[in-house]
Amino acid sequence: MNNMVLPSYVKTCMDALEEAGFAAYAVGGCVRDACLGLIPSDYDLCTSALPEQTETVFADRKLVLAGEKHGTVGVVTEGGVVEITTFRTEGGYEDNRHPQWVRFVPDIEADLARRDFTVNAMAWSPKRGLADPFGGREDLEKRILRAVGDPEARFREDSLRILRGARFAVKYHLEPAQDTKEAMFSLTGLMDNLARERVFEELCKLIILADGDDLIAFAPVICAAVPELAPMVGFDQRTPYHAYDIYTHTAQAVARTPRELSLRWAALLHDVGKVACFTQDEQGQGHFYGHPKVGAEMADRILQRLKAPSSLREEVVFLVKNHMLDVEDDPKLLRRRMSQYGPERYQRLVQLQWADFCAKGVHTDHPRDFVRILEMIREISREHPCLCVKDLAVNGHDMLALGYKGPEIGEKLNRLLTMVLDEQISNDRETLLSVAAEL
Ligand code: ATP
Ligand code: MG
Repeated sequence: MNNMVLPSYVKTCMDALEEAGFAAYAVGGCVRDACLGLIPSDYDLCTSALPEQTETVFADRKLVLAGEKHGTVGVVTEGGVVEITTFRTEGGYEDNRHPQWVRFVPDIEADLARRDFTVNAMAWSPKRGLADPFGGREDLEKRILRAVGDPEARFREDSLRILRGARFAVKYHLEPAQDTKEAMFSLTGLMDNLARERVFEELCKLIILADGDDLIAFAPVICAAVPELAPMVGFDQRTPYHAYDIYTHTAQAVARTPRELSLRWAALLHDVGKVACFTQDEQGQGHFYGHPKVGAEMADRILQRLKAPSSLREEVVFLVKNHMLDVEDDPKLLRRRMSQYGPERYQRLVQLQWADFCAKGVHTDHPRDFVRILEMIREISREHPCLCVKDLAVNGHDMLALGYKGPEIGEKLNRLLTMVLDEQISNDRETLLSVAAEL
């Protein structure tokens, strides 16, 4: 990369620092993305100016000083907050996560040396050019993910880098260098020391991006982060309904779901109960009776442990629990299910079932037409049909007026809803009132 185009609000900040006699660079992810011809999502700057000097340079601007202790000053610009961090080095990691000390340094090389991967350890300045002491640009060109310095030491310092490495490899199609990969895989146990929510956050970013091969290539990392997945690797299902072991099937299923978090997590965990439920009959065929329920309980525990938001956890638990629910291209059944679970949630369930179905690697005698089923679900949603009691053209007051009391009211409304769902009657007020009177 000979030239990196910087937005004017970023360039202005860099110019201000340079005019005051300090070095200033764009650094990290934005340089990596620019080298790849991608538009960076944000721009981080680093500088030789100490935090208080940065504050002086931008004295006429609104500043965000929350990260000042670590050397970061946020400058509010028309393009958003630009974070400017003093060149620094750090060390004395004790818990595989937090440096014991941070020291400001005068030059960019020492700052780049503390960064995780060569592709993330580049800086660019229009005045000073590219700073790339670890060969990040060449690694990007060759699609290599390489730790800066000694990989083992770097992952021991901060084991979140193991998950970050998997994510960068997946996102940018990088192959980890041999020693980086060995260190990543052999030190996965250190991730136990990380805050669970950090692990969750990284896993989310990873599974949203990953395809089936990625999940298989990084199985040691993923299974260390979610140990319940480990027994699934290589587990022979001994059934004509599956061509793959449980983990491979799972990886294929994840890859076939839309890039939506609850669906991706549900696909990852949909068969997590299988190992515990495995039985074999006299012919030696494998069965997994009850695995959706057991799996749902496990998914609940896993996502609680990872401190996932409860809305996501509940959605995933629902999807895992119901992933074997029968599904047909029958409008009546679909309307009832959409009414029971809500149209969006039911659509997600069918998407999961489709992914699960396609990931078995075998032909079946009764293939479901999932394309058609999803089309029907969308059609039903689009037509704004009556899917719940409050969509009915009558309400509780009408039932009261007809002489029904207490629990009868809800019961009558539900019976009307069932009839409307089954298209026995139409959802117009007159019809509903006359039918209700006879119930
Ligand atoms: P993204 O596109 O995900 O934001 P990024 O590279 O910008 O990617 P950030 O987490 O925003 O990642 O971090 C910015 C930079 O800080 C990284 O490019 C890297 O140089 C450095 N960095 C971040 N986290 C670590 C870490 N745990 N260890 C070492 N360096 C890190
Ligand atoms: Mg970033």
